[in-house]
Order: sequence, then structure tokens, then C-alpha cells
Amino acid sequence: MDKPFDCLIVGAGPAGCQAAILLGRYDHRTLVIDAGYGRSTLCRSYNNILGWPDGISGEQLRLLGKFHAMQYGVQFVEDQVQTAEAKEEGFLLKGSKGDVYRGKLLLLATGLIDRLPDWPELTACLGRSIYVCPDCDGYEVADRKTIVIGSGEAGAHMALSLRLRTDQLAYVNHEQKPLSPEIVQQLAAKEIGYKEVEVSQLLTERGGYFQGVRLKNGETLLADKAFVAFGGNHVRSELAEQLGIECEPHHHIPTDPRTKQTRHPGVWAVGDVGVHSQLATIAMGEGAQAAIWMNKALLSDT
Ligand SMILES: Cc1cc2nc3c(=O)[nH]c(=O)nc-3n(C[C@H](O)[C@H](O)[C@H](O)COP(=O)(O)OP(=O)(O)OC[C@H]3O[C@@H](n4cnc5c(N)ncnc54)[C@H](O)[C@@H]3O)c2cc1C
Repeated sequence: MDKPFDCLIVGAGPAGCQAAILLGRYDHRTLVIDAGYGRSTLCRSYNNILGWPDGISGEQLRLLGKFHAMQYGVQFVEDQVQTAEAKEEGFLLKGSKGDVYRGKLLLLATGLIDRLPDWPELTACLGRSIYVCPDCDGYEVADRKTIVIGSGEAGAHMALSLRLRTDQLAYVNHEQKPLSPEIVQQLAAKEIGYKEVEVSQLLTERGGYFQGVRLKNGETLLADKAFVAFGGNHVRSELAEQLGIECEPHHHIPTDPRTKQTRHPGVWAVGDVGVHSQLATIAMGEGAQAAIWMNKALLSDT
């Protein structure tokens, strides 16, 4: 049987890659397993990261992180981890192709997936002209004609929060989930145009530039920017749940705020799968934080 790794990391987004860089520099044998699809593979441009004033795409950031960690001997494999089991000597993970990975400590950096409609034009625009997070990209819509496309109250709350940034705002309730009369009143009071109708097509220009939407009722709304807010995001905490870790009501994995360790011995969790504001920079910080405490755990074990 192959010697177990010191650390197994599931997820090669900003959180997993940053942890891998530190663990590699501590000389711990580290394996990163990644399925290749997450929020950081979707975002075409992060515009608020130190060192990247002109923005950097998620793919580029991930690649830089991977190559950086590989300099210290960290290994990467593409696979979807299906199961996680605790064993006496550590953890045993099984991948979708039947491969088995063994390690003393486990770091879950599996992120979350936004619930988004299956519009072919959407992906090229994400992070470039269509956004998901007002903390990240509220700045990008300042005084710009903006449409929030969403579902029920999730979309309405997004529109209300963006009203501080622009007064040229409309909310299209694509799934037509009913709004409370109070919310409808608030939208009207803030002069946010409200449409309860399905979007039939996103209008975009090559290069990921949003131009507007065509609605099922035949209307066309033009705008420079959009936000999407559908609610019901999928927090990828299944592996933690398999290990018996009790997650928060929305499935985020709770951790110690100082160490990022979960309640399960030997298991850490960082990034969007945990409980915090969902930013790449925070995910990186947490990855570093967990690596420091994983190193302490490995040293105290020797
Ligand atoms: C459109 C958009 C714009 C954004 N803009 C900004 C911004 O401007 N600034 C900012 O700071 N943040 C921004 N964010 C948020 C940012 O992308 C996330 O906070 C960040 O990606 C979280 O990193 P993570 O490593 O926790 O998760 P992710 O980046 O989601 O990575 C998780 C990885 O884990 C892998 N994985 C999951 N489950 C498994 C499994 N079972 N087996 C193997 N691999 C698995 C996935 O394939 C994925 O690669 C934006 C997000 C989106 C979608």
C-alpha cells in the first residue's frame, strides 16, 4: 500500500491552493484533489484582490496557485471525491473513478455553487458584466443601468441592496416566485422597476458584455450590467456530513474561528464551504490559517 499523505486537500480553488502553498513549504506530503468546477472556475475577473488592480480571472489565479504549490512538491489530481471515511491512521477518500487516497489530515475546501439558470450566454459574462456578490462588485454598477435577474425575495433583496449604488435599476423576477406586499412597496418606494416575467434570452456581446434581456412577453430591457440572485446555492459540504460533522442550517461547515478546524479531529474546512462572507481573499486567508494549525497538529504528532 502507498504511504499515506500528511495532508489531503479536497478543492483547488483559492482556499485549497493557498493552504497547499503553505503546507508544501512546511515540507508536508500534500495531495490536492479537485473536480475542476467551482466558483473560481466561473469568475472571469476578480477586481478587488491586492496585487491585481486590473483584475485576474479565477482560472488564472487557480493556475498560479497550483504551479506555486507544485514548486514545493505538492501533488494535484483531477477527480471528484465521492466518499470520506475516518480510519485509525487518518482518512480514506474514494474518487469517482475508483481511486483511493489516504492521508493523516483532511482539509475540505470544496466551496459552493451558485444556483444559476442554464443560459449559454451567461458564463462568459460572470465577473465581467454580470455579478453575484454586491460586496465584490457593487462598485462595478455604480451609476450604471443595471438589471437584477433573480427569483422572488432573493432577487428583491439584491436589488434593494444595490440601490445605494445606482438609481437606474430594474428587477426581473424570472421565476415569478411571489413577493410580500411589503417588499413590492419597498421596490416601488426606491423607484426600482419590477417585472414578474420569465427571461427568454440574455443579450450579450462577444467578450462577455451584457447588453440586456429579452422577456417572454416580448419586451426588451437594455442595460450595461446585471446581477443574478436566485437563492438556494449548493454548499458542497457532503463529505463533512459523511464524517458526521453537523453543519449549519444552510449546510455551511462550522469551524473554530482561530484554527479553522472542524469538530471532527483531523478535519479542517476553509473558504466558501465554511461560515463567512464569500470572497476569494477571505478563502485564501482561511487556507493559510488552516495550514498553520495543520502543521502544528502534524508536528505535535511526531
Ligand atoms: C461571478 C462571481 C464573481 C465573483 N467575484 C468575486 C470578487 O470580485 N472578489 C472575490 O473576492 N470573490 C469573488 N467571488 C467569490 C469567489 O469566487 C469565492 O469566494 C471563491 O471562489 C471561494 O474559493 P473556494 O476555494 O472556497 O471555493 P471554489 O473556488 O468554489 O473552489 C472549490 C473547488 O473544490 C472542488 N470540489 C468541490 N467538491 C469536490 C469534491 N467532492 N471532490 C473534488 N473536488 C471538489 C471544486 O471543483 C472547486 O474547484 C465571485 C464569485 C463568482 C461566482
